[in-house]
Amino acid sequence: LKIIYGIKEVRDLSKSLNIGFVPTMGALHKGHVTLIEKSLQENEETVVSIFINPTQFSPGEDYIYYPKTLEQDLEILKKLNVTAVFVPRSDEIYHSDFDTTLGIPSLENLLCGATRPGHFRGVCLILMILLNLLKPQRLYLGRKDFQQLTIIQKMCRDLLIDTEVIGCPIFRDQDGLPLSSRLAYLDPSLRSSVSLFPKALSAIIQNIDNGNQDNVYLKEIFTSLIQREESPFYEILYADFYDKETLQPSNDVKKSIFCAALMVKTLEKSVRLIDNIPFEISSYYPQSEKNILLKCIES
Ligand code: AMP
Repeated sequence: LKIIYGIKEVRDLSKSLNIGFVPTMGALHKGHVTLIEKSLQENEETVVSIFINPTQFSPGEDYIYYPKTLEQDLEILKKLNVTAVFVPRSDEIYHSDFDTTLGIPSLENLLCGATRPGHFRGVCLILMILLNLLKPQRLYLGRKDFQQLTIIQKMCRDLLIDTEVIGCPIFRDQDGLPLSSRLAYLDPSLRSSVSLFPKALSAIIQNIDNGNQDNVYLKEIFTSLIQREESPFYEILYADFYDKETLQPSNDVKKSIFCAALMVKTLEKSVRLIDNIPFEISSYYPQSEKNILLKCIES
């Protein structure tokens, strides 16, 4: 495993013919590993980046205390046979008079963007910088962050970036919750109560499988299940069926994706949880993931 800190070294690497690239903010877990394994299967070289990107954090968010586990992360990457990991310093990426912005006005203020001002502009910026440095053939992004995936796919299309963007399935814990670095913020006693979230999603799947396609009724089922739990306090930031490309609310349940975000509020902290289910089987929504969700409602 080559550990690369500098811009010049990463540019040298970009001369490799076939690179699969997995950008991360570190605190690696099995969700990240599934993306890396897919890249290892599909490319000669796999490069991972670990960079907690300051421009994608809104004021007051967790930039300072975002989990940092570099030693453990490097051990994971060594075992996986990754070619290189790029761990840039923040001032190497953003020099002192950096002043460029990028954004997708029609998509960046919807869903999570409504409560995270500037977040997706920061995501576009860092990915554009990294893609420009590394010039990978393929970019692997998780469907867990569906809005991010949609925005980056659009950015690459619009800017004629010669990289294929690959959406990967969500890796879920046994209780159906997507693994996430921020789950570490949750007190273990709260961890079990947030499994209500995948259960509420499973209830939607079950209803649709039973032929119900009334989006208003389906949303009500989700909301009533979440709000039944009073401790900890959940705020539903959004929960609706959306068109996969425009991210506008959609009435056509079978052709849309249900996306939801909850804020779990405890006395010390608020933790944002996001999840989604696309209502068609595709390479990034395998039957196995649907089965995990359907199983979690039984427990
Ligand atoms: P992050 O380190 O949180 O920025 O995530 C890096 C990449 O891993 C993003 O493309 C995420 O969508 C993806 N990812 C994070 N958690 C999961 C998960 N549980 N399953 C699949 N992909 C994930």
